Amino acid sequence: MPFVRLLLALFVLLAALPGRAAPTPAPQAPALKPLTVYFFDVGQGDAALIVSPTGKTVLIDGGPPEADDTLVPRVRQLVQGPLDLVILSHPHLDHLGSLAKVIQAVGARRYMDPGFDHPSESYRKLLDVVGQKVGQVMTPSPNPSAPETLRTIGLGEGVTLTLLSPRAPRDAFLTHTRSDVNANSVVAKLTYGKTAFLFVGDAEPETEEYLLEKPIDFTSTVLKVAHHGGRYSSTAPFLAAVKPQAAVISCGAGNDYGHPTDEALERLGAVGARIFRTDLQGEVVAVSNGATVTLTPRKGRSTPTTVNGQVTGPVAKGPMPTGGSRAAPVSQVVPAKGTSAGRTATVPAVATSGTRYVSLKGSKVFHREDCGTLKRAKTQERTVYTDRATAVRERRPAEDCDP
Ligand SMILES: [Zn+2]
Ligand SMILES: [Zn+2]
Repeated sequence: MPFVRLLLALFVLLAALPGRAAPTPAPQAPALKPLTVYFFDVGQGDAALIVSPTGKTVLIDGGPPEADDTLVPRVRQLVQGPLDLVILSHPHLDHLGSLAKVIQAVGARRYMDPGFDHPSESYRKLLDVVGQKVGQVMTPSPNPSAPETLRTIGLGEGVTLTLLSPRAPRDAFLTHTRSDVNANSVVAKLTYGKTAFLFVGDAEPETEEYLLEKPIDFTSTVLKVAHHGGRYSSTAPFLAAVKPQAAVISCGAGNDYGHPTDEALERLGAVGARIFRTDLQGEVVAVSNGATVTLTPRKGRSTPTTVNGQVTGPVAKGPMPTGGSRAAPVSQVVPAKGTSAGRTATVPAVATSGTRYVSLKGSKVFHREDCGTLKRAKTQERTVYTDRATAVRERRPAEDCDP
C-alpha cells in the first residue's frame, strides 16, 4: 500500500516540525534574469555576442571574412534592431573580417576599437562602413575629465561592461611587442552578480603584465582566451589573477597556426579552468543567472557545464596609477562621423636585418626562411618577403618559429 505509506511518511514529517502545522517554503531571492554570451564558431577568428537581461546587445569582434555567411544570419537571428555596441578588439582580419557585413545587416548604435591604427585595406573599409552606418564612435579610454575612473557601460539589471585597456593617451599604447596590434587589444570585463566574463582579444604577455600593475579585480568566471590559445599569452601570473573556472578558445579546426597550443592549454588546466573550444565543439553558449554560469557547446561533448561565480568586488580596487614605464604616448584622433581619416596612431616599423620570411602558397601565415615547417612542406610554391613589415601587412607570424 504505497499510498498509505506515503501518508504515514508525510504525517511523521509534519509531526517532526516544531510548532508548525504545515511547512512553508523559505523565502528565496528572485532568480535573476539571464545574461547570455554566445561564442560563435567562426573558424579561425573571434566573434562573441553579449545579450543582457534587458536585451541590450554587444558584439565583440566579427570573425574572419569567410565566416560572413554563417555569422551574419546567426546575429540577425539573435538580435532585433541595431546592436547597441560593436567592439573591435583590434584591427586584425580574423576579428574584423565579417564585421562590416554584420553592421550593414543589422545596424549598430555605437562602435569602439582601441584607436590604434592599422594600415590594412579591410580596416579602412570597415571604418568607412562605421562612418556611414554607426552613430557614435568611441574608444575604451577613460573620460578625460575623470582619467582615474575606468570607462563602464551599463547593460541593465546591474550588468556592466568595464573597459580595462588600452587607456591611451593617458597610458601609452604598448610597443615593441611581438604584435603591437594584438598587444593593444580592447580588454573588457563583463560582470553580473557574482559572475564575470573577461574578454581579452589577442592580448600579448605585455598586455597582461601591464594590466597586472593596475589595482583591478580580474577574477572572472569565464575567460575568452587570448590569441586563440597562442603559446605566449595566458601567462601563469595573469591566469592566477583571473582564476577562470571556464575558458573559451575560439579557433578554426585544423588551423595552421597550431592553435590552441599545448603550452596555453597546460597553463589553463593548471588553474583548473574547464576548456571549451569552438574548433571541436562549435558555438559555445554561456548563460549567467548572476550566481552560476552554464556553458553549452553545440556539438561534440555537448553536456552543459555549470560553474560557480565567485564574489567579485568592484572592478577597480583603488586609484589607477598611470603607466610610467611605457613608450611615449602616441597621439590619437578618433575620426569624425563619415570619415576614416584622422587616426594618427601608427604601428611602429620593426627593424629588420636581412632575414627573409616565407609563406607557403595559400597560407595566411609567414615563417622564418629556416623554419622546419617550410622544409617539411609539400608545396614548393611560396612567397618570399625581404622585409618583415611587408610580410606582417599581408600575413600573420607563424607560432612555430615566431618570425
Ligand atoms: Zn590578432
Ligand atoms: Zn586573432
